[in-house]
Amino acid sequence: TKFVYFFGNGQADGDASMKNLLGGKGANLAEMTRLGVPVPSGFTISTEVCGLYLAQGGYPAGLKEQVATALGKMEEAMGATFGSAENPLLLSVRSGARVSMPGMMDTVLNLGLNDTTVEGMISRTGDARFAYDSYRRFVTMYSDVVLGVAHHHFEEMINAKKAQVGKKMDTEMSADDWKDLVGQFKAKVQQETGKPFPESPEDQLWGAIGAVFNSWNIPRAIVYRKLNDIPEEWGTAVNVQSMVFGNMGEDCATGVAFTRDPSTGENRFYGEYLVNAQGEDVVAGIRTPHQVTIEGKNRQDSDLAAMEEELPELYKELYAVQQRLEKHYSDMQDIEFTIQQGKLWLLQTRNGKRTAKAALKIAVDMVNEGMIDKQTAIMRVAPDTLDQLLHPMLDPKADRTVVGKALPASPGAATGMVVFNSDDAEKWAEEGKKVMLVRDETSPEDIHGMHSAQGIITARGGMTSHAAVVARGMGRPCVSGCSELHISGNSCKIGSLEVKEGDWLTIDGSTGEIMQGQVATMDPELSGDFATFMEWAEEIARMKVRTNADNPEDARTARNFGAQGIGLCRTEHMFFGAERIINMRGMILAENDDDRRKSIAKILPYQREDFEGLFREMKGFPVTIRLLDPPLHEFIPHDEEGQQEVAESTGMPLEKVKARVESLKEFNPMLGHRGCRLGVSYPEVYEMQAQAIMEAACHLVKNEGYTIIPEIMIPLVGVVSELKLLREKCAAVCEKVMQENGVKLEYMIGTMVELPRAAVTADQIAAEADFFSFGTNDLTQTTMGISRDDSGPFLKEYVDKNLLPKDPFVSIDQVGVGGLVRMGAEKGRSTKPGLKLGVCGEHGGDPDSIGFFETVGLDYVSCSPYRVPIARLAAAQAAV
Ligand code: ADP
Ligand code: MG
Ligand code: MG
Repeated sequence: TKFVYFFGNGQADGDASMKNLLGGKGANLAEMTRLGVPVPSGFTISTEVCGLYLAQGGYPAGLKEQVATALGKMEEAMGATFGSAENPLLLSVRSGARVSMPGMMDTVLNLGLNDTTVEGMISRTGDARFAYDSYRRFVTMYSDVVLGVAHHHFEEMINAKKAQVGKKMDTEMSADDWKDLVGQFKAKVQQETGKPFPESPEDQLWGAIGAVFNSWNIPRAIVYRKLNDIPEEWGTAVNVQSMVFGNMGEDCATGVAFTRDPSTGENRFYGEYLVNAQGEDVVAGIRTPHQVTIEGKNRQDSDLAAMEEELPELYKELYAVQQRLEKHYSDMQDIEFTIQQGKLWLLQTRNGKRTAKAALKIAVDMVNEGMIDKQTAIMRVAPDTLDQLLHPMLDPKADRTVVGKALPASPGAATGMVVFNSDDAEKWAEEGKKVMLVRDETSPEDIHGMHSAQGIITARGGMTSHAAVVARGMGRPCVSGCSELHISGNSCKIGSLEVKEGDWLTIDGSTGEIMQGQVATMDPELSGDFATFMEWAEEIARMKVRTNADNPEDARTARNFGAQGIGLCRTEHMFFGAERIINMRGMILAENDDDRRKSIAKILPYQREDFEGLFREMKGFPVTIRLLDPPLHEFIPHDEEGQQEVAESTGMPLEKVKARVESLKEFNPMLGHRGCRLGVSYPEVYEMQAQAIMEAACHLVKNEGYTIIPEIMIPLVGVVSELKLLREKCAAVCEKVMQENGVKLEYMIGTMVELPRAAVTADQIAAEADFFSFGTNDLTQTTMGISRDDSGPFLKEYVDKNLLPKDPFVSIDQVGVGGLVRMGAEKGRSTKPGLKLGVCGEHGGDPDSIGFFETVGLDYVSCSPYRVPIARLAAAQAAV
């Protein structure tokens, strides 16, 4: 088997299509090599080996030979020899999974250095300082990543040395300073691990390869995988590559850049770099990076020279390469480059992470530029990320006291109570508090804290720092690199402001401003690119998206988000108004039909008004109204005081109220006297609701000239006879109302499919139904026998133990519950080919579930107003 894929000298065994086998980094290094972009030669050990290694605890036969062969080719390509005392080849060992996992797995640079080869480096470059600087970096990185000797040991030794020789900056340190430190480092390693630091380059290489594979299973990688749904079995590839040096002097540099602005999406080249630096110096936020372009520099109001000014020729070359890469991949690229003595090398390219705002803009721009088609554009934005665009921004008119300015690292406004570490952030958030995470800088250990926080503020680091990259990926507002921020223990100073743990701060991730206290926010802008993009989504989608709404405000919000009708109006919410609840209770407590009818008659006008309000908002679109569903005891108080009030307002003796409440008690209300069973017992309630619906519709048709399409939905049907009975009663009312009003309009009577029996007998039920709406919340409860309200504690355990892939109330259980949906749809349509089918559970707003409903052939999904754009995009993606 081929385990090792070489790249170099313009030729590569792999290419960009081989991401599964070579990881994203390896596949793109191969692709860039093929394109003729300057890439240091190297080879990739496939992800397949990762699986074998982790399972067997050893390498497959033949791997060593393949690595030796590839290394030989690299030596030839680079004109240097691994382990040579005269002209040593140094290596980087880099991880790379299928999808990028920023900062998750550590890279080892300058591998191959030892006390002999370092001399070779000196004689080859004539630069002892550089050679020892590289050597000490290697020993610390290798010790940290491979040998598990924590970085801070070395930091402390460096600081002690600096104090001893009276120097501040790394760049001031001499060759001898570093040489001395390398000796100290190695002694420390011996002390900590009980073994000497490996001198043999061969041992170093295999140690690093093993460490990369093992790092697939370190806790922070596991956390990241869980958060991002990355399967454990993918594994990582290992990339072994010739080193190029950005730290060899003033004509050397290293940097990262984006072909378009990853924050706003604007079409301008954007990047940061550092002269005379290596590897992660830019990302780590140790020195403040310079801008690549003059434009970027002006925008940041910076007096640090841009690369465009400092290294104009190389800038031009870099600019051409980035353009070429973006064109080649037809997507925004995130690139890493290093300049060694005036020569440009590319070390990585990948589709850049971006904010939702940027994703949308880039997708729309690229269609307009003719680079991609609308279908591709639709696939470029993850539906859930749209959420970031739908949420509040700072109200520009709100009073604010700006106390500090930082880089606008991830847009959106956030306000929260200050905490200074990630564990506190998580703890406070679990207590329901809104927190603002304030840190010097973040590292992969902070992922859980960043996830728990509303927003993130850091004292150090640029737009490409860990905090910035991760926050953008998560959609958390973030401002980074606030030089006025000084943290000490559980308080900090921002400029002159003292901030203690628990104080409120507000940030604007789009401007970088930090404000004292809580600042008012306002709704986002939904025109422009957003509107264009959503129009394309609608063109492409087959399924329609409706909303769940039971009041005009929600209906209006959903319409603004593009909902095409109401898929579920829960009428029970309408019974809670001050006066209505009195009549509702009168109805429930009534001892005879006559009294019951009197109370019901008083509710009717309110209901009619409610429906008129909804119909007006939804003019021309269908509105599905579910008749009363919850058990009646939900409407009456269970405490003495409340019952006393009821007694007074209804004129009933307290004892009778109590007795009635007692008689309504159920052991298992979810499976009790509810849904259509209420309609069976108290048909006058359903008749009143049908009357109110039809009267509202007739009035608007007659007086306001609207087209109204009411859909009356009968809940919790399990047996066709239930539906037949209630349908006939409702239809009779509808006909009567239309006759009285002299109006003829189209209406439907259908049912919610939320019991397994309904799905199994859907062919019978369809005979009495004009439509089905799958109520997947109850259908999940009744199919799995799991109560949604009681499942919190154990469902999480199920997911953690991989017994279930996801919480089935969030994302539909496709095989089980989904199987019943499919059966219900097929059986229903076998009776009535044109039967209208929708879904109205939480799943109607979940992208994965929507993908599934597309395969079932439903006509629409219905979800809460703020999920509507997400559902529209998911529906479009499902149709591509
Ligand atoms: P990550 O996946 O965390 O970005 P990388 O494998 O890209 O890790 O390595 C991190 C950094 O190390 C790169 O951005 C680059 O600056 C440096 N680096 C990696 N390989 C080389 C190399 N062959 N020569 C010089 N620098 C390198
Ligand atoms: Mg990288
Ligand atoms: Mg239900």
